[in-house]
Amino acid sequence: MLKDLKLRLDKQKDASLYRRRRLLQSPQSPSQVINNQKLVSFCSNDYLGLANHPQVIEAFIQGARKHGVGSGASHLVNGHHQAHHSLEEELADFLGYPSVILYSTGYMANTGSIHALMEKGSRLLEDRLNHASLLDGGLSSAASFTRYRHLDYDHLEQLLLKENKPSMVVTDGVFSMDGDQADLQTLSKVSKKHGAWLMVDDAHGIGICGPQGRGSVAQFGLDSDAVQVLVGTMGKAFGTFGAFVAGSTELTDSLVQFSRPYIYTTALPPAIAEASRVSLGLIRQADDLRNRLVGLQSRFRTEVLSMGFQLWNSVSPIQPIMVGSSETAIQLSAALEQKGLLVTAIRPPTVPANSARLRVTFSASHTEEQLDQLLQALFELRHMVEKNEPYQ
Ligand SMILES: *Cc1c(COP(=O)(O)O)cnc(C)c1O
Repeated sequence: MLKDLKLRLDKQKDASLYRRRRLLQSPQSPSQVINNQKLVSFCSNDYLGLANHPQVIEAFIQGARKHGVGSGASHLVNGHHQAHHSLEEELADFLGYPSVILYSTGYMANTGSIHALMEKGSRLLEDRLNHASLLDGGLSSAASFTRYRHLDYDHLEQLLLKENKPSMVVTDGVFSMDGDQADLQTLSKVSKKHGAWLMVDDAHGIGICGPQGRGSVAQFGLDSDAVQVLVGTMGKAFGTFGAFVAGSTELTDSLVQFSRPYIYTTALPPAIAEASRVSLGLIRQADDLRNRLVGLQSRFRTEVLSMGFQLWNSVSPIQPIMVGSSETAIQLSAALEQKGLLVTAIRPPTVPANSARLRVTFSASHTEEQLDQLLQALFELRHMVEKNEPYQ
């Protein structure tokens, strides 16, 4: 075993795929101390700067005083606290959905709902660039599982026409590594036409797009009749932790009955739920922060494109710079780090082969000066990326 592991680790290193953890020695915010070095970070998912927000911190502390730290049990045993329940009701109201249940993580919400819903004889169709947790849910489910080409709804329809089975179509709302958005209008039409359910994981949309930050579903004017399963996470725009599934009461009731990652895990700490409730209140009123994000994004896009870099067709705070090879992505990331900037390289297998990238993400708490610093560094390093064919 040990010898095999050593060989596998060496192979990872040789292929520039070796993953390392950086040690964060300050709170999550654009100015960070990492491995004893001061860096400006462009890689967190804390889009609205709520992870270190005084009101959210205070809610967490008060929540711990009131409820203790650990939830003590799973939701079904006796860990379902009032704070969880209130958060579920407030999320349902915010999203305009009949019912919401909390999960401990988005990974579990995705695998857990796919498993519970997709029985043998049913069929699951996913965008091939969906988040790993959605793909893992599909790979390990009893249903037949097919991936359609990214955002290619004609391809999806061809697949749906092949067989007549109970089906569910699954997509990211905003794609986590690409920042582009699913066309939920078309997807819901295609799904409806073939009697399929539509599940949307809007981990990067909720809090960021749509009226009051209600996410991609609201942005497209849709609701629980069109998107029967809506997943959101609180580790991103909420700046806290945890996740949820929204849908009909029959859906959430079924998850309580049949979803093993819901049943067999400890409920998240109630103080975290209290912090998320305060985040939700801030998100509803965060139009100014969302406008700031759009401003940072569009200035970045204009200037970086004029330097000759390739960007993805992204409409979100996730702005990948496409560089192709894993080596280039790592070298560019290291060069930026020497200039005091943290931008992580994302490599296969997280993204498809030859689509390694620097995943730049913006937070409303970035200053214009911090963006200037990033733009200046990219300008100085622009020779590092070859002018290859546009990535498809
Ligand atoms: C982060 C993320 C998840 C996982 O959520 P966690 O709460 O971090 O487990 C699921 N889906 C998407 C699209 C994500 O970006």
